[in-house]
Amino acid sequence: MRLAGKRIFISAAGQGMGRASAIACVREGAQVVATDINAELLATLPDEAPGIETAVLDVRSTEAVNAFAASQAPFDGIFNCAGFVHNGDILATSEDDWDFSFDLNVKSMYRVTKALLPGLLERAPHNGGSVILNMASMAGSIKGFPNRLLYGSTKAAVIGFTKAMAADYVKRGIRCNCVCPGTVDTPSLRARIANSPDPVQAEKDFIARQPLGRLATVDDIAPLVVMLLSDESRFITGQPVLVDGGVTI
Ligand code: NAD
Repeated sequence: MRLAGKRIFISAAGQGMGRASAIACVREGAQVVATDINAELLATLPDEAPGIETAVLDVRSTEAVNAFAASQAPFDGIFNCAGFVHNGDILATSEDDWDFSFDLNVKSMYRVTKALLPGLLERAPHNGGSVILNMASMAGSIKGFPNRLLYGSTKAAVIGFTKAMAADYVKRGIRCNCVCPGTVDTPSLRARIANSPDPVQAEKDFIARQPLGRLATVDDIAPLVVMLLSDESRFITGQPVLVDGGVTI
């Protein structure tokens, strides 16, 4: 069991990659606290991952995040997974869009990490090193994509946040990395496809930009999350780790 003895926090664990990662972590022996803003999605998680703990948590609320942190025992690892994909170029991006995406995709990581950091530091001498793992993307500072002005800006910020955290805490037993997936078949991707003017063509276009010839599934991503939360990655910190089906070859 690759995560035996580890207590792990995950945000946005109701569906998509957060959910698959939460289930994979439980299967590898972790004690997982899976959180999401959506209680209904969380309600079915224990069927797939017996023993998992769930909690409704809106990572856009500092008050809620701080109250959650105060109610919890220390964590050995956290996976900040919450994020939203805004579609459009700069002319299709309002200030409200900007504030929403930066709040959910970036400031939430600041909020959660700051609130849970004392526990991670407390655990670090006893667990072989605590871990902060963030959800970034291949889109952002690694590669620019059309109509991803705001999304790419937030995910570039996540990589910057990850590297700065890694530099600040490398000597205090904490590693900080981020996952950078390609296009992953999740409920929100399906919604983006359905809401496009030509959904059939939109799906073809998403697949066409993946050199491996298909979309990623959540099970292509969850094993990397497990590895980066486990001691197997004990010599990796400050890294954006790509899992993109060859897009950035
Ligand atoms: P998704 O977008 O389908 O699901 C997102 C989850 O976040 C939902 O369960 C939702 O209830 C929850 N959520 C929304 N607002 C929240 C809030 N304020 N507090 C807590 N939870 C909240 O899942 P996904 O597509 O796997 O995306 C997860 C992450 O992966 C995001 O950060 C996304 O940007 C990133 N990502 C996605 C892809 C992709 O192609 N799907 C690629 C690269 C990166």
